[in-house]
Amino acid sequence: MTIPLAEAQTYVLDRISRLDTVTLCVDDCLGLCTSAPLQAEESIPPFDNTAVDGFALRTSDLAGITRHGSIRLGVEGSIAAGDPPLDLAEPGTVLRIMTGAVIPGGADAVVKVEDVLVEAESIVVSRPIAPGENIRQAGSDIIRGSQLFPTRTVLTPAHLGVLASVGYSRVPVFRRARYGVISTGSELVDDARQLRPGEIRDSNRHSLKAVLADADVQVVDLGIVADEEGALTEAFLAAAGELDAIVSSGGVSVGDFDYTKRVLDHLSGGEMRWMQLAVRPAKPFAFGMVAGVPFFGLPGNPVSALVSFELLVRPAIRKMQGWREIFTPELSAVALDSYPRRRDGNIHFIRSQLQVRESGDLVVQPLAKQRPHMLHEMSRSNALIISPDGDGFGKGDRVKVLQTGPFVSTKPRQG
Ligand code: AMP
Ligand code: MG
Repeated sequence: MTIPLAEAQTYVLDRISRLDTVTLCVDDCLGLCTSAPLQAEESIPPFDNTAVDGFALRTSDLAGITRHGSIRLGVEGSIAAGDPPLDLAEPGTVLRIMTGAVIPGGADAVVKVEDVLVEAESIVVSRPIAPGENIRQAGSDIIRGSQLFPTRTVLTPAHLGVLASVGYSRVPVFRRARYGVISTGSELVDDARQLRPGEIRDSNRHSLKAVLADADVQVVDLGIVADEEGALTEAFLAAAGELDAIVSSGGVSVGDFDYTKRVLDHLSGGEMRWMQLAVRPAKPFAFGMVAGVPFFGLPGNPVSALVSFELLVRPAIRKMQGWREIFTPELSAVALDSYPRRRDGNIHFIRSQLQVRESGDLVVQPLAKQRPHMLHEMSRSNALIISPDGDGFGKGDRVKVLQTGPFVSTKPRQG
């Protein structure tokens, strides 16, 4: 009996809990979620300062411009970013000022250096300047006492900059999960030697480590384990002690000639659930708690493993790490080619190239090779078209898409 994808997702997410909260150095928080609302204890900018290089002046000194066409003002000194505050001297004088410097006491505007005639010790201003012109007011970006970010904000580089700007050196966050990655299969090798007949190189561990790092978790490489009861038991148990979750690939298909199933059934106390999902690729999937740790059994086929990751592991990571939105949003794009298929009870996730047209519209090209061992073709893809059970779609139809990588250009690609 196949299980609808949504049911498997709910099954997994019901068994995933949010991790505990910690306080980390700002630089360690990229991609993590705040675990408390954060207030600003300081204003930004902290003082009135100039947005341009120019001359700080009193606008009242410019009253005569309308009568005389221009006004000459004496330059009494200069003030650079980082200098302590100064005051303007008597009326009719200005201070040279550099971007970011404190507005001098008595000044109420800054005229840009390129808007005046600069002479030896004076300037000539020939247009009126409004009070406040070119001044960045204290608190105009962030006012002290205001809320910076609500709880469960996913921290991007700009958020980290904001936090640093108001003096946060440490930030309360849901901690980063530690995910172990393991490859199972007696055919797998991971070194430079010549392959013996029947052997293949382990690719899943490397692509899964990369996709986990991309999902902002801490990755622990657990290596390859052969299909052998003792080795599997030892590897899974050792891993579970140290980690928040384990992602394995291989050994979950129906009729597999390996021991992964038996070992995991034993270690989970019979709680491991072996599923056949109503999707293509990534049909086989196993999930359960092994020694108290969520265990994701992904299929061995390299394409299936990555698709399975997107559908089942990534949302679980987001939930663990405190995100509010845990599913990747579906985009809408126009198909550049048809994808004829038959009703088979499955949702198809079609590897494809999502492109942005010059107009800004999204278009998507389904790739030719869709078999689950064809990882090279998948490496050309940055999206999965979601084809619900039915007859597929025609060229020009609007389809739903999950973006899985950066946009590709609209120009024809090499190779
Ligand atoms: P399994 O799910 O163990 O039945 O494996 C399905 C297919 O994926 C088989 O052809 C395996 O050889 C292949 N496979 C399993 N694990 C890996 C891996 N780590 N890297 C590359 N291919 C794999
Ligand atoms: Mg296998």
